[in-house]
Amino acid sequence: MTAEASHELTVVGGGLAGSEAAWQAAQLGVRVRLCEMRPANRSPVHVTDSLAELVCSNSFKAKSLENGPGLLKEEMILLDSLILDSALKNEVPAGAALAVDRNRFAETITQRVASHPNIELVREEIKTLPPGPVIIATGPLTSPDMTEILIRLTQGKFLYFFDAISPIVETPSINMEKCFKASRWQQGEGDYINCPMTKEEYYAFIDTLLKAEAVPLKPFEKPLYFEGCLPIEEMARRGPDTLAFGPMKPVGLMDPHTGHRPFAVVQLRPEDPYGQLHNIVGFQTKLKYPEQTRVFRTIPGLEGAQFARHGSVHRNTFINSPLVLKPHLELRGKAGVFVAGQLVGVEGYIESAAMGLIAGINAARLLRNDPPAVPPPTTAIGALIQYITTSDPKHFQPMNINYGLLPPLFESSGKRHLHRREIADRALEHMKIWKNQTLPERQPESKAV
Ligand SMILES: Cc1cc2nc3c(=O)[nH]c(=O)nc-3n(C[C@H](O)[C@H](O)[C@H](O)COP(=O)(O)OP(=O)(O)OC[C@H]3O[C@@H](n4cnc5c(N)ncnc54)[C@H](O)[C@@H]3O)c2cc1C
Repeated sequence: MTAEASHELTVVGGGLAGSEAAWQAAQLGVRVRLCEMRPANRSPVHVTDSLAELVCSNSFKAKSLENGPGLLKEEMILLDSLILDSALKNEVPAGAALAVDRNRFAETITQRVASHPNIELVREEIKTLPPGPVIIATGPLTSPDMTEILIRLTQGKFLYFFDAISPIVETPSINMEKCFKASRWQQGEGDYINCPMTKEEYYAFIDTLLKAEAVPLKPFEKPLYFEGCLPIEEMARRGPDTLAFGPMKPVGLMDPHTGHRPFAVVQLRPEDPYGQLHNIVGFQTKLKYPEQTRVFRTIPGLEGAQFARHGSVHRNTFINSPLVLKPHLELRGKAGVFVAGQLVGVEGYIESAAMGLIAGINAARLLRNDPPAVPPPTTAIGALIQYITTSDPKHFQPMNINYGLLPPLFESSGKRHLHRREIADRALEHMKIWKNQTLPERQPESKAV
């Protein structure tokens, strides 16, 4: 039997997403070939030979259902996630967060994947697109040959090599007594929220920004700043007025509170279909997260800002999912080619693993001639998929899970229900229904392996 004939599905990349994808498909009875290029080749950040290596922090973020990551983890546990189950088996104390012993966690996954009767683990770098159904899960530091393949699969223009992520603020935390809604030159329906600044406020902000602490660049990120995605603090370093003539220029805007054009403005653009999130336009940054909170809360109107996503600028690899990806994570126009993990434009370990989970289930469904299946947008996984596949492709940047992506609940009075616990209960209820409809035949791991 040839290597191709011995399996039905190839998964490229044995990281968080690829390991989860291979596991999910194998648990549904599919014979999987999982290809991982380590140890022969390693990205600049991987140091071990284990599958699902955590390249930086050992935290899977908050456990509480009051937080987006808490809900996402609960849904993944419900869907029998390999990554979550192995994380819980190797948990170390970390207060309100789920943190793991990184070596034991990765060794557990390697052992479980390698001993699964439906998975063949192959230590090989993939340099050409394998035949048959395939899941590409090669991560933020995809190998050069696989990058070439992705460039071709995305028509040569919908693959990106760095991200430029601006912070996102929860809309109710913006003080509209200081801010105003308007688009420049009164174009459109005044979609932007504008935080106006006087001359004194602007120069005080620049001073605070320049003194704030940033995350140092990693050696493999150095060329990044030549590619036109300067962090806001780097722009400010070029001269005190650079931002006033750049992302903070006030032209075409009149502050209705004063009747004057402000000296500078910070503009926030709506980020989600429900109006729950606003993105601080042009504020991609390398500042440390607590520094972002401190510095950006000095902006008039953002004193009480709650951040759903902090900003960053990373070396990354991701596709323009709104243009090229279907909600079940198969590429448009490339039947049988699925993409998973950080490549689809999500940020973080659990978000990436969740995308592996959905790709694995859907690749198995394709092989069984079942229709694609995606959790509803009222769930954390469904909301994340809705975001990456329906956002404005012009401004598409990677996203982490947060409650602003989930549809709000309304009280009988028409007021938005702000209790996250009830949104979480709805999500888990809907996920249980989806699981029963989509995976009725699945057995617990102990019986399947
Ligand atoms: C420097 C850095 C720090 C980070 N810190 C954090 C953090 O603290 N917290 C957090 O939540 N997220 C962090 N992330 C993001 C995190 O790495 C990803 O969210 C997550 O690992 C993505 O999972 P993945 O499966 O998509 O990719 P990965 O986990 O990177 O897995 C991809 C796998 O594919 C393999 N591979 C690549 N090309 C080929 C090929 N051609 N053939 C075969 N195998 C191949 C790689 O060796 C790797 O094992 C960080 C990322 C970077 C780069």
